[in-house]
Amino acid sequence: MFLKRRVESDALLAMRYLHTRMKLTEKELYYYHRLEKGYRGELAFDCLTENLQEERYIINDLLLEINQSYFQIDTIIISQATILLLDIKNFEGDYYIESDKFFSVTSGRELKNPVDQLKRSTILFRQLLQDLNLDYPVEAFVIFLNPEFTLYQAPLDQPIILPTQVNRFFKELNQISSHLNAKHGKLAQKLISLHHTQNPFTVLPDYNYHTVQKGIYCSSCHSFEVSTRNYDLVCEKCRQAEPLEEAVIRSVKEFKLLFPEQKITTPRVYEWCKVDVSQKTIYRILKKNFTITGSGRGAYYK
Ligand SMILES: [Zn+2]
Repeated sequence: MFLKRRVESDALLAMRYLHTRMKLTEKELYYYHRLEKGYRGELAFDCLTENLQEERYIINDLLLEINQSYFQIDTIIISQATILLLDIKNFEGDYYIESDKFFSVTSGRELKNPVDQLKRSTILFRQLLQDLNLDYPVEAFVIFLNPEFTLYQAPLDQPIILPTQVNRFFKELNQISSHLNAKHGKLAQKLISLHHTQNPFTVLPDYNYHTVQKGIYCSSCHSFEVSTRNYDLVCEKCRQAEPLEEAVIRSVKEFKLLFPEQKITTPRVYEWCKVDVSQKTIYRILKKNFTITGSGRGAYYK
């Protein structure tokens, strides 16, 4: 049973928007593609956990904090007797481990060792349970999901599940019976209540209102060459039509995420959307879909 479904992280969304609205450096592009790929892997993994049998709670994407140390867990599975912490990796290509260091064969680049990260998260998670006076055995694994992933010199004693072992991992998990009671429910709700939505360690590219491209882009092909036709926004490139209202709401949401400190006002959104409609139309859309605060010239929307 899914208690918390996965959605794109704010970091991924921000990078997606910035990728469309500015030129990213090679390093930023690499980071962005890694986020997209990781998210795709997590979604693929969710399809597998959907088939889990017996009573279990599944909580996705928790960002927790203890004594100002933040840690993220891709998937938590609460079963009757144990809590499983899973870190999902969608790496592709050849990698190797050498004296606890993790390298890509193709690029020679050293990556953060996922097992080390998992160990850290597990320690912090155990501390958190202790603080909450909860006593559950915790097990943790890094799951490499991509069938194109190879890990040379994978040590046998590491908590790693390789792509060829994923099915067996689930089979074995399904063989353990599990019945949940109110205590498990409370534990799950407690963990969800501790979730932080903002990751303080997310590093985004340097940008501001003046350096990003304004305008509404096509939701399908991301082209800024769009025009309004009746109540639709039509893409000149791929001909996709999207209701204008939806397109404006989508753009306001982007604005909110990219500039959380700025107020959403009619003139600002008019300028941001840069679309061939009157301020009055923008005003109507905002009024209908957002909550107004203040009045007159000082009014803004939430
Ligand atoms: Zn298009």
